Amino acid sequence: PGSGQGIEAVDLEAGYGRIEVLHGLSLAAEPGEIVAVVGANGAGKSTLLRALSGLIAPTAGRVRLGGADVTGRGPEAIAAAGLAHVPENRLVFPTLTVDDNLTLGAWTRRRDKAGLRQRRERVLEYFPRLADRLGQAAGTLSGGEQQMLSIGRGLMARPSVLVLDEPSLGLAPRVVREIFATLGRLRSAEGLAIVLVEQNVRAAFKVADRATVLDRGRVLLEGVPSDLLADDRVQQAYLGGG
Ligand code: ATP
Repeated sequence: PGSGQGIEAVDLEAGYGRIEVLHGLSLAAEPGEIVAVVGANGAGKSTLLRALSGLIAPTAGRVRLGGADVTGRGPEAIAAAGLAHVPENRLVFPTLTVDDNLTLGAWTRRRDKAGLRQRRERVLEYFPRLADRLGQAAGTLSGGEQQMLSIGRGLMARPSVLVLDEPSLGLAPRVVREIFATLGRLRSAEGLAIVLVEQNVRAAFKVADRATVLDRGRVLLEGVPSDLLADDRVQQAYLGGG
């Protein structure tokens, strides 16, 4: 348990119908901190993010966001309380322009037009590649650019917490480095609390301050990435070594 700011899950249980996927899982990310979440396929990483963002309701445990208990609230309320969820597979609106996709990201603050313009400028500073493509249909962007747009859209709501589901999926190593470097800047410059779900353990551990290894809906290991990298179980399961 940390300061209570950022995001905190305590003894979380969640699943789909009668199938429980998370069996009492605790995790926290403080402002200015990136926490990587790794684990085998089906360990429950995406389910964890859905439970944090209100897409599925936890059956037990608590979720705290910015010090407030948001357990059981829906996704709109949790987004309005400061959490942005960047889902798997970069769900941009393909026929809309980059600019319109960004504007849609600010729906929780849509009445504040001046704030919206400022925010857009800021997001484009973080992702300059989007600035050159504002009028382009999002569906015609490269995979890396779509990922940048997906993150940029999340940032438009001025979140305090950003949760990302496998942003590196299918991207070239150079693009992954670029995107993860930007996440590092967002952590430091904006003080965001970031939960980064990744299959790409090496890349995630490079940028993360702390990491959690999930196994079948439970926390198997947690700690600073350099310690986890030295752990035999992590070596064998995720880094192809021993
Ligand atoms: P991956 O790395 O493969 O995406 P993950 O760690 O993100 O895996 P989840 O997607 O959270 O794992 O899935 C955890 C378990 O929940 C799996 O057994 C999966 O089949 C199940 N599951 C996921 N989504 C649903 C759903 N909508 N309905 C029923 N079961 C689901």
